[in-house]
Amino acid sequence: MKLIDGKKLSEEIYTQLKNEVALLKEERKKVPHLAAIIIGNNPASQTYVNAKIKACEQVGYESTLLQLDEKITEMELLKIIDEFNQNTSIDGFIVQLPLPKHIDENKVTQAIAPQKDVDGFHPVNLGRMLLNLPSYLPATPFGIMKMLAANNIETQGKHCVVVGRSHIVGSPMSVLLARNSSPGNCTVTLCHSKTDNLSYFTRQADIIILAIGKPYYLKRDMIKNGVVVIDVGINRVPSSTTKSGFKLAGDADFDDIADKCSFITPVPGGVGPMTIASLMQNTLLANRNELY
Ligand code: NDP
Repeated sequence: MKLIDGKKLSEEIYTQLKNEVALLKEERKKVPHLAAIIIGNNPASQTYVNAKIKACEQVGYESTLLQLDEKITEMELLKIIDEFNQNTSIDGFIVQLPLPKHIDENKVTQAIAPQKDVDGFHPVNLGRMLLNLPSYLPATPFGIMKMLAANNIETQGKHCVVVGRSHIVGSPMSVLLARNSSPGNCTVTLCHSKTDNLSYFTRQADIIILAIGKPYYLKRDMIKNGVVVIDVGINRVPSSTTKSGFKLAGDADFDDIADKCSFITPVPGGVGPMTIASLMQNTLLANRNELY
């Protein structure tokens, strides 16, 4: 079994990005500027946003963090998004999900200018991805593609089972892996909560991408020997050994399955750091303004 070290790979990407920033400074050009909007005080969202801002500092980007009250109206938020769209100093921005229930996520996603949509969630970017045109790729699937490539994991002709069909992870992942590209050229099965007999599919998989938000879900009897497991899940589970009283667990039962896998990602330290590194790469693309 080989552990896929997302943390290490993300550090390598940060080194490259730092060099790019140094070059931009040398040429007296504008450095990338990422802005993030966060609404309310969901602790997990706060952690994710803080990690993104910290990553900006690490690579030398400018960053802006706008913390908004949970009671903000949809109209007020859309107005702020419009201001960010017009603000030429901001190259790209994100609105951290999930949103409070009274705000329509689709409206928010579609309000962000596709050219600044570094999360890659706007229908224009998702459509361009489907057509194999240059676009911002959603950060988590983009990061996973890089992990597969960096570890020389053969994907062509392999059966990849993606579990979870969200717009931000599972669905774009299935599209990218089915593309005629490298990594890619997989035969993809996309499973979800209505899939009958999920283990029938996972047991046939050469590669499993797991993004369901259910801690320790994937067990030993659900996989075949030598499978590659990419665990996207980030779940808080109670823990008596940490000060906070919780720890992070993936959707796979790592201890139960690791020795049966050829490759596996840990949680934490796997997909999570690569998601942030990919967001940083998208922000550099936005700064260069080359995609559109
Ligand atoms: P969503 O809740 O949006 O989607 C979950 C998906 O899993 C749905 O498609 C759902 O099916 C499916 N699902 C739920 N339970 C089961 C089950 N028992 N069997 C099969 N399918 C199931 O989640 P996200 O995609 O946003 O996130 C998934 C996980 O990944 C979460 O733990 C999240 O925290 C984590 N995450 C991690 C990131 C990282 O950087 N590492 C980035 C983004 C997310 P249905 O559509 O039928 O409801």
